[in-house]
Amino acid sequence: MPGRADLTSYAYRKVRARVLAQSDTCIVCAHPGADACDHIHPHSKGGAETDPDNLAPIHGVKGCPTCGRKCNNEKGDKPLSAVTQLVTSRDWYAGP
Ligand SMILES: [Zn+2]
Ligand SMILES: [Zn+2]
Repeated sequence: MPGRADLTSYAYRKVRARVLAQSDTCIVCAHPGADACDHIHPHSKGGAETDPDNLAPIHGVKGCPTCGRKCNNEKGDKPLSAVTQLVTSRDWYAGP
């Protein structure tokens, strides 16, 4: 499985910073304060690694300061729809 090291690549960090600068509202629990990014379509399942449209803010190792969930842990490699029913204004689910 190639590409695991890309998670810390410069391009990825740059895109992640851009996504977090636009919004820090977690895609899993919908609270602010997200400090990490997750792939909407998991990279391991063919999602684009550094496409800002495929990245969304999520609470990382520190968890959510509001509800205490470790959102990134909960989500793991599951599709987003498996962990949240959150409806967003962004067109994250466009496609087949
Ligand atoms: Zn969260
Ligand atoms: Zn929360």
